[in-house]
Amino acid sequence: MSPELLLFALLGVLVASTALEQVARALQVRHQPPEPPPELAGAVDAVAYATAQRYARDRGRLGLARGTTLLAVWVTLLASGGLAGGYALVDAWLGGGWLVPLLFLGGVYVLLDLVSLPFAIHATFGIEERYGFNRTTPGLFVRDKLIGYALAVVLGGPLLALLFWTIDAWGGAFWLPFAAVIALVLVLLTTFQTSVLLPLFNRLTPLPEGALRDAIAAYARANGVALDGVYVMDGSKRSSRANAFFSGLGRQKKVVLFDTLVERHTVDEVVAVVAHEVGHERGRHISKLLAANVAAITFTLFLISLLVESSTLSAALGAGERVVALNLIGVALLFGPVSTLLGVFGNALSRRFEYEADAFAARTASPAAMCTTLRSFVQHDLTLATAHPLYTALELTHPAPVERIRAITTADAITP
Ligand SMILES: [Zn+2]
Repeated sequence: MSPELLLFALLGVLVASTALEQVARALQVRHQPPEPPPELAGAVDAVAYATAQRYARDRGRLGLARGTTLLAVWVTLLASGGLAGGYALVDAWLGGGWLVPLLFLGGVYVLLDLVSLPFAIHATFGIEERYGFNRTTPGLFVRDKLIGYALAVVLGGPLLALLFWTIDAWGGAFWLPFAAVIALVLVLLTTFQTSVLLPLFNRLTPLPEGALRDAIAAYARANGVALDGVYVMDGSKRSSRANAFFSGLGRQKKVVLFDTLVERHTVDEVVAVVAHEVGHERGRHISKLLAANVAAITFTLFLISLLVESSTLSAALGAGERVVALNLIGVALLFGPVSTLLGVFGNALSRRFEYEADAFAARTASPAAMCTTLRSFVQHDLTLATAHPLYTALELTHPAPVERIRAITTADAITP
């Protein structure tokens, strides 16, 4: 393939994936029934139901603006040979050396992040604020951003350096040793997520004594569950939305409840949520998703290995000679559709685990309380009630609330 043709293929892939994303989002908003579905009866009023759709449309418009802006930046960078020019500049500035590709890729990351920044600011202080969700102060927003950059340097920097080193040492066969490194890093990150990473952003406190803690202890005793790690997280410092999650591996396992969830819901409802999280633990969902992730990354690294040393790809991006750092960007863009497809599989697996966890909660706690919590995601958090199949496949790690309620109530009807 000639460099020109490869460049056209790259541009085509970029345009197609941006278009697909926007089409899925538009279909998702239009897919909502005009009235609240019967599964939400009595818990979701007409005003909240309509507001949820307006909220989704506002976010969709912002997503469209962000998507087309990023597309324009990429097309300009690719068509003008700006990427190769940028690399040459860094190379000349540093006079060569191992730091050149790192600084260049870091620069591309910062550039794209700066382009996205106005949209992120508008999402938080415009849309979330208007719909009454935002609790993030400008100071906290800046602090989060700075920690994000520091993590990118501390975690991403050494990994990237190691990637270039393995490519240098192993050539096209680099993907296998590097996949092993990534697997190890992912295991460590998953294990220590709530004990090391999360405290950089939030405070976790053990669930205080009281009716809720007693009810959770009673649930744990009744179901033979060892539940010593239930924590409350100060989610309210960023948003009024409620959530909960299960994380960690081995001894680091924790159930984390947002303070907003604990404040808004009855004891029965929170126990149902805890039961859902225990369902994830029982199903070993964290390790299974981790294994799927490692498999997907290994496959992606193998694909990258096919083109990482290609002079044609470097030429397509405007370089006169082979540049591995440029090829990494080219390959990431070119194989975008493959990552989308891997994402579709990953999302489907995650949604299956959500149904399993819901079924576990319905079996061991209260199906009615679980459904009430799901309804409140529509009424209070303005989650869209149903989901279009294309949007579901591309974007959703959790099934839409109505689908989850339907699954719980039908399963409940057939089990005595
Ligand atoms: Zn879940």
